Amino acid sequence: MEKLLEVKNLRTYFYTEDGVIPAVDGVDFYIKPGETLGVVGESGCGKSVTSTSILRLVPNPPGKILEGSQINYGGKDLLALPESEMRKIRGNDISMIFQEPMTSLNPVFRIGDQISEVLLLHQEMNKAQAKAKAVEMLKLVGIPRPEKVADDFPHSLSGGMRQRAMIAMAMACSPKLLIADEPTTALDVTIQAQILELMNKLKNETNASIMLITHNLGVVAETCQRVIVMYAGKIVEEGDVYSIFEDPKHPYTVGLLKSIPSVEVRQNKLESIPGIVPNPLNMPKGCRFEPRCSKAMDICRTNQPKISVLGDERTVRCFLYSQETE
Ligand code: SF4
Ligand code: MG
Repeated sequence: MEKLLEVKNLRTYFYTEDGVIPAVDGVDFYIKPGETLGVVGESGCGKSVTSTSILRLVPNPPGKILEGSQINYGGKDLLALPESEMRKIRGNDISMIFQEPMTSLNPVFRIGDQISEVLLLHQEMNKAQAKAKAVEMLKLVGIPRPEKVADDFPHSLSGGMRQRAMIAMAMACSPKLLIADEPTTALDVTIQAQILELMNKLKNETNASIMLITHNLGVVAETCQRVIVMYAGKIVEEGDVYSIFEDPKHPYTVGLLKSIPSVEVRQNKLESIPGIVPNPLNMPKGCRFEPRCSKAMDICRTNQPKISVLGDERTVRCFLYSQETE
């Protein structure tokens, strides 16, 4: 099977005054060319830290990617590259969009200039070509009157239009992988659907892969082919979108699916699983979901479950499916 990117034993810890937070704690997964992979879980489960680790944008200190972690892309381990090489990959091979467009758009520069800048950095273009390409990208993402908008500053656009401009910038260099961290969470439902549709369209046209980070399972069902579910820094379940929705195995995934409102209108915040996520400074000794799990057994309190392979691209980390510990 062809893999575009493979993450192996990723551990990203934060060394705070209060103690060590294992935000991402031994995560393994891969992304295939052209697929959309959903990364699902409550806030604080490690999904955003996983994505910033891939781009090596974890603030250090207090964050640190531990020895033994690997992020393989194009025959190289991104974690072993000099920063100068990594800079060529960011925004070019792998780009990222965020919930809040102003995280990547600079308020004091015109939109067209910001997109041109990315192009000038990564592609062999002169200024006029970059400017023309920027306008073309704005048009491609469905911004009306792109020539005019290219001369605007970000604040003069609506939230949805800013999100489109950020996508135009992220897609300008035709990345192989677009990492989208809660890209539609701040938008209203209609605009949300339009942005997802746009991302899908661009993905299909360019054969890029998307890693879509979200807490919204409705978004996953509409957009993703495969899903990984994270809980307290670990992947607890993985599968194709159909089996995850039809036949969830991990008690946490089962809980997540129950928390989807029957009419998919409001943004569900996944609040209906009883209990709260564990304090990362004081993780449970055994399974990290044990304090909230209605299926917990004695072994769950003392031992950490390992990943069990259930089938092709189908895994779960739970003692209900194996007695193996790690
Ligand atoms: Fe629940 Fe035990 Fe499975 Fe953890 S390992 S999810 S506590 S049954
Ligand atoms: Mg996040």
